[in-house]
Amino acid sequence: MVSVVDDVTAEIIALKKQRDAIILAHYYQQGEIQELADVTGDSLKLARAAAAVHNPVIVFCGVVFMAETAKMLNPDKRVLVPDLQAGCSLVESCPADKLRRYQEMLRANGRRFQTVCYINSSAAVKALSDWVVTSGNAVEVVQKRVPPDYEILFVPDRHLGAYLQEVTGRPMILWDGACIVHEIFSLSDLLAMQRRYPQAKTIAHPECPKNILEHADFVGGTEAMRQYVARHHEPTTFLVATEANMIWELQRHYPQHTYLPVPGVSCACNRCPHMARNTLEKVRDCLRDLAPEITWQPEFDKARAVLSRSLLEPAAQTATQPAGD
Ligand code: SF4
Repeated sequence: MVSVVDDVTAEIIALKKQRDAIILAHYYQQGEIQELADVTGDSLKLARAAAAVHNPVIVFCGVVFMAETAKMLNPDKRVLVPDLQAGCSLVESCPADKLRRYQEMLRANGRRFQTVCYINSSAAVKALSDWVVTSGNAVEVVQKRVPPDYEILFVPDRHLGAYLQEVTGRPMILWDGACIVHEIFSLSDLLAMQRRYPQAKTIAHPECPKNILEHADFVGGTEAMRQYVARHHEPTTFLVATEANMIWELQRHYPQHTYLPVPGVSCACNRCPHMARNTLEKVRDCLRDLAPEITWQPEFDKARAVLSRSLLEPAAQTATQPAGD
């Protein structure tokens, strides 16, 4: 019997061909969307993939700031999203006008700083920044690109910022933002799982608070997590402290292992409600209607320049790289 999902999937495949479109999907998308995608990845991998796309249409299955990034890095393409309401708590935590006022206050107080923003931010915030980082390249950017005689204002994720401070030894002024998914992992549940599975490896995303990270065997963004798991050849149990859809990607490529999601304090799983807005039906509809579409905004010009030099240019070509590094 042919299911509704099979029908919708068939429609998407036909429309994709008709539109000559490519589908990019984040690891936090539900498995049936990742299954259909031409490329799956973390923010850094998807941004770089988007910049290299030749197809006229990109369907970006993730949240809106990711689709905006794709548009900025490949402006001639039509970038569609299944749901324009797919936001992000980190984006919301850092309004551009508030950041601008804070930067002005720091300058008025004689502070010499560069602003490093996590890619989970609006285009207007990126436009106010010197560097944009993902969890995949943040350590490299902080170590190799921000001149050592500058302070760092890191926005908007205080947990990723605190982790970067610890790893790089660079003190930072931290914005008070957090991801609603990663902030609520339950330490007591994690410790109980570790007692129950003493041989298990705990992998955690650096958006998690320090109390979770200090109990992890590995800390890294989703692509780094995937690579860490790939290095384990013997069947292993992994306790996964990131958005639970990541397990689909791990299971697909490394089925010999067992993956257990670390629960949050208020639910049995950790699913991002913004990512969950995207459905197969909405993917089909946006391909059919060529909408919703990411259109060019005035702040995209400046944000694009910051994104390009941060994510696409190697460190050695960057003018502000510290001498001798
Ligand atoms: S998981 Fe957190 S950081 Fe990622 S899109 Fe959802 S709210 Fe934003």
